[in-house]
Amino acid sequence: MSALQIANVSKRFGNVDVLKEINLDIQSGEFVVLVGPSGCGKSTLLSIIAGLEKATGGDIEIAGRAVNDIPAKDRDIAMVFQSYALYPTMTVRQNITFGMRCRGVAQADQQKALDDTAKLLQIDHLLDRKPSQLSGGQRQRVAMGRALVRKPLLFLFDEPLSNLDAKLRVDMRMEIKRLHNRLGATIVYVTHDQIEAMTLASRVAVMHRGEVQQFADPDTIYDKPANLFVARFMGSPP
Ligand code: ADP
Ligand code: MG
Repeated sequence: MSALQIANVSKRFGNVDVLKEINLDIQSGEFVVLVGPSGCGKSTLLSIIAGLEKATGGDIEIAGRAVNDIPAKDRDIAMVFQSYALYPTMTVRQNITFGMRCRGVAQADQQKALDDTAKLLQIDHLLDRKPSQLSGGQRQRVAMGRALVRKPLLFLFDEPLSNLDAKLRVDMRMEIKRLHNRLGATIVYVTHDQIEAMTLASRVAVMHRGEVQQFADPDTIYDKPANLFVARFMGSPP
């Protein structure tokens, strides 16, 4: 079954068509990367998937249910943005468990979920620190931990690594890949970085000016680009 079905989704801001008839059918457990130049509509599409923004036209279904019919608290989606948005006055422990407390998860279950997640992300030694006492990479791990403890069906990432330095970016890339293999969750990951797209994705959707130019596995994108834009942007040989 489709984990996420995007059918004819369009979005208009004022008189600008930011998304034009987007169609993507994403299977459970897939790692899909939306890649394209700045301003092509990636974040807008992600916000619509998350139900944070309403499409002008078209339909989004998550596991067969229209996203707008799912009450916000039941939407099994976790989103990680490029700015980490941790609560500065809370410790790492409080930041990670906050969402669970809001959802009324029992104390004992919270503790177990926190322990497992902290171990997985190697932040178990940082639980009593405040965000200001962490490095950029550690903060990003905490932000991911906060998303992970909820064990969502669908992860949405919006350029989560773009504030990190090059070395850390590569390390975190590997870590995200490892997490995906381990959890088997469905991921939609936005980036403007072609290498990130090609190394992470099971399928890549190349976007340009509000349209999906090609949706295929990385080898196909590289070997058989659908058009000149895809070839140039993704760096295929001429
Ligand atoms: P990307 O994430 O690919 O860089 P965005 O989805 O953020 O692109 O933006 C796509 C286009 O929509 C841009 O031209 C941007 O200026 C415009 N846009 C985004 N959000 C709004 C908004 N709230 N109001 C008007 N225009 C917007
Ligand atoms: Mg964006």
